[in-house]
Amino acid sequence: MTMPAHGASREEVFSQLEAFKQHDVKWREGRAFTLAYNAGTEVTSIAEEAYRRFSTENGLNTHAFPSLQRIQSEVVSIVAGWFEGGSDAAGFITSGGTESLLLAVKAARERGRSERGITSPNVVMPTSAHAAFEKGCYYFGVESRRVPVGSDWRADVAAMEAAIDDNTVLLVGSAPQYPQGVVDPIAAIAALAEARDINCHVDACMGGVTLTYLARLGHYVPAWNFSVPGVTSISVDLHKYGYSAKGCGVLVHRNKQLRAYQTYITDNWLGGVYGSSGVLGTKSGGPWAAAWAVLHHLGDEGYMELTAAARRACEELTAAIQATPGLVLRAQPESTLLAFGAENPDVLDVYAVADRLWQLGWYVDRQGPPASLHCTVNAIHDGKIPHFVADLRAAVADAMKASATGEQGAYGTVD
Ligand SMILES: *Cc1c(COP(=O)(O)O)cnc(C)c1O
Repeated sequence: MTMPAHGASREEVFSQLEAFKQHDVKWREGRAFTLAYNAGTEVTSIAEEAYRRFSTENGLNTHAFPSLQRIQSEVVSIVAGWFEGGSDAAGFITSGGTESLLLAVKAARERGRSERGITSPNVVMPTSAHAAFEKGCYYFGVESRRVPVGSDWRADVAAMEAAIDDNTVLLVGSAPQYPQGVVDPIAAIAALAEARDINCHVDACMGGVTLTYLARLGHYVPAWNFSVPGVTSISVDLHKYGYSAKGCGVLVHRNKQLRAYQTYITDNWLGGVYGSSGVLGTKSGGPWAAAWAVLHHLGDEGYMELTAAARRACEELTAAIQATPGLVLRAQPESTLLAFGAENPDVLDVYAVADRLWQLGWYVDRQGPPASLHCTVNAIHDGKIPHFVADLRAAVADAMKASATGEQGAYGTVD
């Protein structure tokens, strides 16, 4: 493709762009069990409209855009309330989970260097902690110490303790962890951090909204937020179960002193003082405004209903998988994520099941080890589970018959 010499009309560009989407997963119809979240057409259109109105406003400098300063501070304060952060809690909007986790690693490294003179820092975390921590360690020159999870897929706290040394700057727990959907023993991990006065980040990118509202709905939720002593920072993605537009996460620290290690400021160039809260420079106001709009449109009541719907669908899917011969559930989901594999991997290749499901229009994540399929169940799936389960069972039968080998696939792609 080369640059067109003559401009095309509005109608032409939009009709082409819409045509590009033809083979995309139909997330609006509930066909995606990953990557996209849907609270219905009204919520989506409110997010899109707010995004449109603020897409050119720039969060790099909130002095020029007091609107964005206000939006950020209100969004962060709502989220800090979910996290039971006290009046000292302070944070920033990020572009999503990956940026939040990169900054959690960076803040821990800075704190270790500044308060304890650590020059070879390490992070101790379970093998279930998100890949973005690995990316953060790689970017910022921090050693990643991965500790195998226990047989229940939760962080093995004794093994984590054994991996800690004087250069450890950060411990990580997830609420829930992505691969099997269980909540790590946050209180025990945070106690290890508190005893050593080091950072403890809780990755609630997935669970920050869901666990908050599941608890209010009366479900049992193990302690995971700032009510736990020793937790120093928590992340949540509003572009996941916040049901807002892509490009919005929030990273909250227990207090402003801890937050200070996240930010960066320099005047070592010819352009004057340059400060930034995160990885990016220019930041579209679109995702911030969309999040503000969706939070205010839904309110607590809206999130209670959406959380109840997602949980109902998740429980229905869990029961159906357990009742399907040939499949094993990896763990009882504690929020709305679940994973399952083959009872006997010699006779059933779950990646072939995923291939077949995709032919039928359903997109699930493939992961491992062990080879598993993963479903992120959200509100749009309420009422859609019987159809999915029928197709899943057909896909299992097909895969067993063919003993076909599917591609391994990937959670994220690089092309
Ligand atoms: C999605 C996710 C992330 C990464 O978030 P992105 O928004 O995809 O960058 C981190 N941690 C957990 C537990 C997640 O589910």
